[in-house]
Order: sequence, then structure tokens, then C-alpha cells
Amino acid sequence: MDCIFCKIVEGTIPSTKVFEDERVVGFLDIRPAAPVHVVIIPKKHISDMNGVEEEDLPLIADIHRAARQIAVERGVAESGYRLVNNCGPDSGQEVFHLHYHLLGGHKLGLPIA
Ligand code: IMP
Repeated sequence: MDCIFCKIVEGTIPSTKVFEDERVVGFLDIRPAAPVHVVIIPKKHISDMNGVEEEDLPLIADIHRAARQIAVERGVAESGYRLVNNCGPDSGQEVFHLHYHLLGGHKLGLPIA
């Protein structure tokens, strides 16, 4: 499968990983949209939120747990951050491997639209 995020998981393309456990990886976004911009993904290839099966739901908790830890480690847990998931064409999803953007490090605008 030709998936750039699977290649990041495997280490066959370079990335700056800031978190890794058995099921989840977090790495710096190559085009940061905020001072702190980490992409958090399950190691398992799931195309997007619509592809999350019942059996995958624990992975969503794993991702949130990772996000909380990453926020502490990147220094934004107290100042605040945003966790964003894009799903499908209208969202602007570019990479079809489930991922969440952790954004922070300055005052974030609203709405995201
Ligand atoms: P999406 O629009 O939600 O699909 O976001 C995909 C994100 O992945 C974008 O913010 C890209 O900048 C980021 N991205 C794409 N390729 C790479 C890479 O090789 N390393 C790190 N981030 C990437």
C-alpha cells in the first residue's frame, strides 16, 4: 500500500517522531500551521474516521491519551491546544490514513472554516 503515513510508521521515509508506543505515533507536521503542530496517527492503516470499525475504537482513546501526553511534553497543556480530525473531501483531508492534528503554541482562531 502506498501510504505516506504507513511509511513514517515503518521509518522508510524520514520524520521527526515526538511520540511512539505500541499502537500510536506522533510526528511533527512538515508544514506547521501553528508553533506546535503534531500529527498523531494509529500505526494500523485506517483511511479516515469513516473507516473506524467498532474494534478500532480503543485506538481513538489511545490517540487521545497520546495527545494529552504530547501536549504536556510540548508545553501547551496549560495554555491550550486543539485536536483536529479531517474526514473526507469537504474537510480538505489530504492524507488518507487516519490522523489528528494537535495544534497550539499561540492563540488559535475560530471558526476553522
Ligand atoms: P490533512 O489535510 O488533514 O490530510 O493533513 C495532512 C497533514 O499531513 C498536512 O498538515 C501535511 O502538512 C502533513 N504531512 C504530509 N506529508 C507529511 C510528511 O511526510 N511528514 C510530516 N507531515 C506531513
